Amino acid sequence: MCNSSTFQIHEKTNTGEKTYKCKECHKAFIRSISFSGHESTHT
Ligand SMILES: [Zn+2]
Repeated sequence: MCNSSTFQIHEKTNTGEKTYKCKECHKAFIRSISFSGHESTHT
């Protein structure tokens, strides 16, 4: 039962709810700054 907290953290890492996906090359970014920087490379 004491493992539940560890599992939750692991789950959160796997879900990665805050991810920015590039529509051009389908590359995923966790930070919006990295994403906006990458997006500018396509235009
Ligand atoms: Zn891209």
